[in-house]
Amino acid sequence: MKRRTFVAGTAGALTAATGAGGLIARADAADPMPGASVQGRGALRINAARINGHLTELAKFGANPQGGVSRVAYSDADRDGRAYVMQLMRSAKLDVSMDTAGNIWGRRSGSVPGLKPIIFGSHIDSVPEGGNYDGDVGSLGAIEVVQTFAEQGVTTRHPLEVVVWQNEEGGLYGSHAATGVMTAQELAARSVSGKTIREGITFLGGDPTRLESSRRAKGDAACYFELHIEQGGTLDLEKIPIGIVEGIVSIARWDVTVEGFANHAGTTAMTGRRDALLSASRLVEAVNRIVTSMPGRQVATVGKIQAFPGATNVIPGRVEMTVEVRDLSSDVIQRVGQMIQDEAKKIGERSGTTFSFRTSSTPHAPALSDPAMRGYISAAARQLGLATKLLPSGAGHDAQNLALICPMGMIFIPSIGGISHSPKEYSTPGDIENGVNVLMHAVLAADAGA
Ligand SMILES: [Zn+2]
Repeated sequence: MKRRTFVAGTAGALTAATGAGGLIARADAADPMPGASVQGRGALRINAARINGHLTELAKFGANPQGGVSRVAYSDADRDGRAYVMQLMRSAKLDVSMDTAGNIWGRRSGSVPGLKPIIFGSHIDSVPEGGNYDGDVGSLGAIEVVQTFAEQGVTTRHPLEVVVWQNEEGGLYGSHAATGVMTAQELAARSVSGKTIREGITFLGGDPTRLESSRRAKGDAACYFELHIEQGGTLDLEKIPIGIVEGIVSIARWDVTVEGFANHAGTTAMTGRRDALLSASRLVEAVNRIVTSMPGRQVATVGKIQAFPGATNVIPGRVEMTVEVRDLSSDVIQRVGQMIQDEAKKIGERSGTTFSFRTSSTPHAPALSDPAMRGYISAAARQLGLATKLLPSGAGHDAQNLALICPMGMIFIPSIGGISHSPKEYSTPGDIENGVNVLMHAVLAADAGA
């Protein structure tokens, strides 16, 4: 696409599209080469071969024999991958820096003074034995968008900031530091790399003693977009190329202790046993029954269970287990949690055992995406002729932290077979191309509309 094609009629098209003639006139005067008009910009496309090539290159950092990557935060592979990403940012004409929390930022100025930045990006750290798409698609996709803008001479009204958050997989640490207050306890937590968060930030080149200088206050950004693989199987199953994230679910977790009575497995008759594991098993079944008995997309899981004393010839006297419930609605989570506890009480009464529930994590509120942001993504997909589906994210993302300070929107592309956090994680080059094009046009729509 040639720049000349776009420039013709720029001011008129922008004025007509935004209805903000005065503002635009000033923008145009300040920028002699504003690039594609709003109408002309519709034809802009990212370079699919380039973004897919960059993904292949990034996959070399921490490549594991299974075909994925083990690029856990604060490892040498993480540091080297980040250096590669910073080099790509520079090639995309971004002004690159690292904040004190270790997040990487690439900035590009806008044409209208005083507007807040549009932020978009993701992460490049992985779980141990992870795949090549989780986080990478959104990070390199964001860089591809600005590279396309640079090549095609597109200037946005808002400043743009591409971000690569540090240590997403360990617990959204980078975005947490940028939007909230990191406690001493969090900084002392040990990451998979073996380093504490504090040591990890230093290792990356940040400064854990000056984290407050990286913090963004509410209203410091115009909005935040994140492109990501779905990590579930819905889009692949329904053959829908683009997911519009409704929100990121809230998670409630309980540590449950079941008390019974340990006794000889051979000499104790079947009647009158107080078998904690038998009661726990009934609760496992009940959790599944309760969560599926009501309409909605809530999920609940017993993921960990241990019997004590844990011997072949002893009736289990105590069981420790976990219960986790996730949904976009805190009310639903609370209702399901209450039903599970009511059912546990009944199971206990029938079997001479007792259940005690202890909340093991403070559930963060569900992070809903912003309706206007969903609208930009939806308009971008429509313009590209791509079908969309509104869906919740069952996994946590940095976007949930950004939702605390600005309107947030998330774009999903299909994960083949719904597999992620595995070397078998895969999204097709075509799906990646679609996702990055949608990200680009959603950014442009937000730039024109916000
Ligand atoms: Zn991710």
